Amino acid sequence: MSDLLVIRGLRAGIETSEKDILRDFNLVVGAGEVHALMGPNGSGKSTLTHVLTGRREYKVKAGEVFFAGQDLLCLPVYERARLGLLTAFQYPVELAGVELDDLLAEAARGRGLPLSHVSRERVESLGKRLGLAGKLHRPVNVGASGGEKKRLETLQLSLLDPKLVVLDEIDSGLDVDGIEDVAREILRTVRETGMSVLIITHYARILEYIPVTKAHIMINGRIVASGGAELVHQVEEDGYDAFRAEAGEEAGQEKNDAVVANGRDPFLL
Ligand code: ADP
Ligand code: MG
Repeated sequence: MSDLLVIRGLRAGIETSEKDILRDFNLVVGAGEVHALMGPNGSGKSTLTHVLTGRREYKVKAGEVFFAGQDLLCLPVYERARLGLLTAFQYPVELAGVELDDLLAEAARGRGLPLSHVSRERVESLGKRLGLAGKLHRPVNVGASGGEKKRLETLQLSLLDPKLVVLDEIDSGLDVDGIEDVAREILRTVRETGMSVLIITHYARILEYIPVTKAHIMINGRIVASGGAELVHQVEEDGYDAFRAEAGEEAGQEKNDAVVANGRDPFLL
């Protein structure tokens, strides 16, 4: 299977700070593969999505990223999208004045897809499957609930035929039925189009519907463990401490805080 995304030795942070957020990050995703990326808050998962997308305030200091055989880091954002990289952000933005239909038409054109790919009929039938009937022909995400925004992101990835979709916590903000609807649609798209997926998540639930090729645990800017679905269940049951220890990191600040708080817990006195 050919490698679609190759990230080697990536070191990156934000423009206004010296601190590295990604520190020697390595990942290879093959065509048609589904990878899960899990890690505690603040480990750098969203930063990775921003760096891959090409957001201006994030600065790459070392390493390389190849996508579909091209050096991704020298390309502007729109070229990355054109190549078939699509990101569903953790916090989808509201685009006042930009109708969803216009966005889909422009995106399809950019990807070199026929406009029939995003025809009203296709949008509506998919929208119905995703519980979005009556909420489609509007400015993108404006007035949508958290869960509706995640469903709208799913609709876009399903219609735009990406080669790789990066899902940054697509399951947060969704109720249990929403997770199932979104997961089933993603799985259907993977099977029909052979797209690859990088799912960033805190929960095993979405991965019950979408079988993973590999799972990775990220601590403090780098992947410290890779394996199969068993890693996901290990995290659900035991949290990240074992991985922190393996990575030579101190147990996290959150845990230290909890110990201090417990020391003051009136129920323990
Ligand atoms: P995760 O998605 O794993 O929770 P993030 O990538 O959002 O982690 O954040 C990793 C670290 O980098 C955090 O300490 C966060 O505060 C910091 N960070 C990320 N993006 C920015 C930014 N735009 N400005 C300031 N700090 C940032
Ligand atoms: Mg995040």
